This record gives sequence, structure tokens and C-alpha cells, in this order.
Amino acid sequence: MRFEDQRKKLVQTLKMRDIHDESVLMAFAEIPREDYVPAEYQEYSYLNQPLPLSDNQTISQPGMIALMMQELSLSSEDKVLEIGTGSGYQTALLAHIAKEVCTIELLEKLSLKAQKTLHSAGFKNIYYRIGDGWQGWEKAYPPHKEFDKIIVSAAADEIPQRLTEQLAEGGIMVVPVGGRLMQYLYKITRKDGELIVNRGTPCTFVPFVRPGK
Ligand code: SAH
Repeated sequence: MRFEDQRKKLVQTLKMRDIHDESVLMAFAEIPREDYVPAEYQEYSYLNQPLPLSDNQTISQPGMIALMMQELSLSSEDKVLEIGTGSGYQTALLAHIAKEVCTIELLEKLSLKAQKTLHSAGFKNIYYRIGDGWQGWEKAYPPHKEFDKIIVSAAADEIPQRLTEQLAEGGIMVVPVGGRLMQYLYKITRKDGELIVNRGTPCTFVPFVRPGK
């Protein structure tokens, strides 16, 4: 089956799994996942599965990305912070919907590859930082202090406090928190200055690396 047809099928699969946010479904229909998958796994691009990247990292499962993006209730006005650029696939989906995406990746090699792919795809609303995302977007350009939405693609052992501080009023953050083998997807909302914390579905992500911890 052609990639184009497989992509349509993936969107149907997402719909059957309770993804109903139209902007999320449209983004999945538009962004070619095969461009972000390493050449040797390209034929598996549209399986609803995580796939290997270099450096022991993985490109997240489409169903999990879709769920996280739906939880964020994204709008075209949003400034989004993403931790864990990885392949850049989720970055592309976010940038397709939101106004601006600031994305941080610890591993230089992965970030540079993702930057190359995203540049050739024509995105002009993405900003990159190579480094530890635990501190958030601090000291990076553009000098945003707050974000409407924050999405973390690596498993944290606790709720990253510096990231919650960079969540704007009314903002939403999704982050997997738990042990090494299994985590829960947390949804954290800032309302009237307070943080509302909700524990959601179980999930499995690669670890949020904490250099120096
Ligand atoms: N959404 C990405 C997921 C990549 S996996 C995709 O679908 O391709 C998670 C990524 O988080 C990995 O690339 C890993 O290197 C990165 N990561 C882990 N710890 C990090 C940290 N402290 N700061 C920034 N990125 C980190």
C-alpha cells in the first residue's frame, strides 16, 4: 500500500481509539511520518508502534502522540514547548497546528537531524535548543518565559517543577511520570495561579535523562 493510503488508515485507527480532535486528526493526515523514520524502518512508518531512532531513543507511538496532543486542546494561537525533539515527527505535528513550537533535545546528533528534516519540510515556526530540557526554555531564543502548552516526550521520575513554572495561566502540560518501566500520563493545568494535577493512562517512554543528578 502507498504511504499516502497507509497514512489515511492510521487516521482511521486513531479515530477508533477515541481521537476526535479535528486539528490533531488533520495534522496526522498531513505529516508524512516516513520522512522522520530511519531508512531501515521506513516500511513500518504507519504501524501504530514506536520505532527505533539512533542512540537508543525511539520515535513515539502515533496513538500516544495523538492522545497527548488531544489532551493539550491545541489552538493556532498557542506557543508550545516540547521536551525531547527526537525524530522531529511530533514537532512537525505540533507546528502544523500551533503558532510556535520551541523544542529541546539533549542529544545533539538527534536534534541536528530533526532540524534538517523540519527545515526541508518548510516549517518556519519552530525554534530549537540542544541541551537539558529539565530547566525548560531558559536562556534560549525567542526569550519566552511562559508557554500555553508543554509536552514532555520522556519519562520523568517526578513532575518537572521548572516546567510547571513556565506554564502560562490557563496552560496545560502533559508529562509521563513514574518508574523506568512504566509511567502514567499526567495532565497539569494552571488555573487561577494554582496547578491542577490529573493522573491519566499508563504509558512507557524512554527516560528523561537528568545530567548531573
Ligand atoms: N517525540 C519524539 C520522542 C523522542 S524519544 C519522537 O517522536 O521522535 C524522547 C527524546 O527525549 C529522546 O530523543 C531523548 O534524547 C530526549 N531526552 C531525554 N532526556 C532529555 C532531557 N533531559 N532534555 C531534553 N531531551 C531529552
